[in-house]
Amino acid sequence: MFSFDLLAKEGEARAGKLVTPHGPIQTPSFVAVGTQATVKAVSVEDLRKIGSQVIITNAYHLHLQPGEDLIEMMGGLHRFMAWEGPLMTDSGGFQIFSQGAGKEHGVGKIAPIFPEEKDRGRHFSSKKGKPLVRVDEDGVDFISYLDGSPHRFTPERVIEIERKFGADIILVLDECTSPLHDYHYTRAAMERTHRWAVRALEEFRRTPDNSQALFGIVQGGAYRDLRQESTRFIADQGFDGYAIGGSLGRSKEQMYEVLEWTVPLLPQDKPRHLLGIGDIEDILEVVKRGIDLFDCVAPTRMGRTGTLFSKEAERFRIHIPNAQFKDDPRPIDEGCNCYTCCNYSRAYLRHLFLAKEPSAIRLATIHNLYFLESLMGQIRAAIREKRLAELGMEWGSVV
Ligand SMILES: [Zn+2]
Repeated sequence: MFSFDLLAKEGEARAGKLVTPHGPIQTPSFVAVGTQATVKAVSVEDLRKIGSQVIITNAYHLHLQPGEDLIEMMGGLHRFMAWEGPLMTDSGGFQIFSQGAGKEHGVGKIAPIFPEEKDRGRHFSSKKGKPLVRVDEDGVDFISYLDGSPHRFTPERVIEIERKFGADIILVLDECTSPLHDYHYTRAAMERTHRWAVRALEEFRRTPDNSQALFGIVQGGAYRDLRQESTRFIADQGFDGYAIGGSLGRSKEQMYEVLEWTVPLLPQDKPRHLLGIGDIEDILEVVKRGIDLFDCVAPTRMGRTGTLFSKEAERFRIHIPNAQFKDDPRPIDEGCNCYTCCNYSRAYLRHLFLAKEPSAIRLATIHNLYFLESLMGQIRAAIREKRLAELGMEWGSVV
């Protein structure tokens, strides 16, 4: 029920087709973030019109609320959220360990330069004096940010939870480290993650269900030898695909370096997912380094604050509440064919944001997601036609 075919290559960049039981994904593909079994502010009907191919939800959040048993009883995650396309579930390792790292270091696991950090980590900074996360060889104990109730995840338990959700692609439990963890701790966490990966795969194979594929996660922080060791180990296990997770360093340059150490050691014939990238400027850079799938909260999160993608603007974004758009009759982006740009002016959207109308957020999110999907379509075509460098110049790429 799963297959992955490479259709074209240009340098390390790949164009491919990942087939899942709920339909194909043309890669490289953006994965829309739907943490709580919804992409914030838009409906699945909106997503279909936008051209979204795949959504990633979060096993940790959905385990805490409403729980895997309820979702299973309601017919599984696809039916529960009325999304008939491909679905992924992240294991929640990132969220659990953000809690611990935030406590220990007063920061999250990725340096603040990565904007998704604040959004993902914000639940975990309070409750002084109480240990929020405790890891041991067998698994991890953590406290619910909703009601303070105690929970325990083990590699086997997370597979069991993700089986109940029933997403097409599921991820193993991993231990994420902070960029402030030293080499010694990062190594110990990586080795534990490896043992957990083996256990997760055993559990996955013990409960066969060919409607799901399991991705392993490479760890190792921003240390070259650890990343390479982790990649070799995880690649040797024979997962259906590979995700690159954990601390990607303190800067974008370090993130690109981590990819350059890691991606060439992954099998060519399996998809690679980069967990959580920050900005539209990163997309071409990670695709060039051989990434097939990536999730990114930028389009939805920025949309909610009125920051809208526009090709001609500085850093590809405008802040629509600004006074300069007060009487601007143009669409957000002249080249965009989304529902919002086809119908509404910048002046109207600015008015909706200032009036705090909920429709502002929906229209902004539709535009940002469509803009990104349109960029991904251009990237896939460029790889097939071997003109990715040209497209990079058009988008002001520095590499
Ligand atoms: Zn638009």
